[in-house]
Order: sequence, then structure tokens, then C-alpha cells
Amino acid sequence: MSMSLEGQFQKVEEKLFQNRYLVDSGQPHIRVAPHEKPSKNLLAMTHLCPAGCYSQAETGQVEITADGCLECGTCRVLCEESGDITWDYPRGGYGILFKFG
Ligand code: SF4
Repeated sequence: MSMSLEGQFQKVEEKLFQNRYLVDSGQPHIRVAPHEKPSKNLLAMTHLCPAGCYSQAETGQVEITADGCLECGTCRVLCEESGDITWDYPRGGYGILFKFG
């Protein structure tokens, strides 16, 4: 007997869509340090961040838009100690609100 898995599993994108994010205007909790050329780790974040917060400008620098950050900590582990970024939790009441786990 074959069973369809459709309807039993939700795609990750659909799950992420359930979350809500409250933007703390003008107070991003992650900042990228000024640089001319990004380090390997910082550049890697343009592919690794699950929320797609990091992007590379045409001029080569890596930028962040912290809206939608899932606070997974990947960029913190890879880029904070080197000084590529500064990372703090959002202020109370702001940031990601997980609806399902
Ligand atoms: S903490 Fe995770 S989701 Fe947030 S910007 Fe860093 S890698 Fe992306």
C-alpha cells in the first residue's frame, strides 16, 4: 500500500512563515564591522544563514539585514570572536517569536 506523504509534513519554509518578527527599528542586534574585503567566514554567512540575513554588495562587502534573524547563533560562532560582527540578543519584546518549536 502506498501512502502519500503530502499533508503529513510541512516544508521548512512553511514552518518559518508561521514565525513572527518584531523589528527594533534603528537598533539591529547584529552589526557587521566595517571592512574592505570580507573574511572567509563572513562571506560564508551569505550561504549559511538560514534566514538569508547576509548578502554581498556589488562592491564586495558583506552586509546584514537582521530582520528575520532566527537567533540560531551560527554567525555568532563563526564571526564574533574574529570581530567580523558584533552580536547581541534583541531587546526584550523584539526579535523572533517562534510559534511552533
Ligand atoms: S543568528 Fe542565525 S539566523 Fe540570525 S543572522 Fe546569524 S546565522 Fe542568520
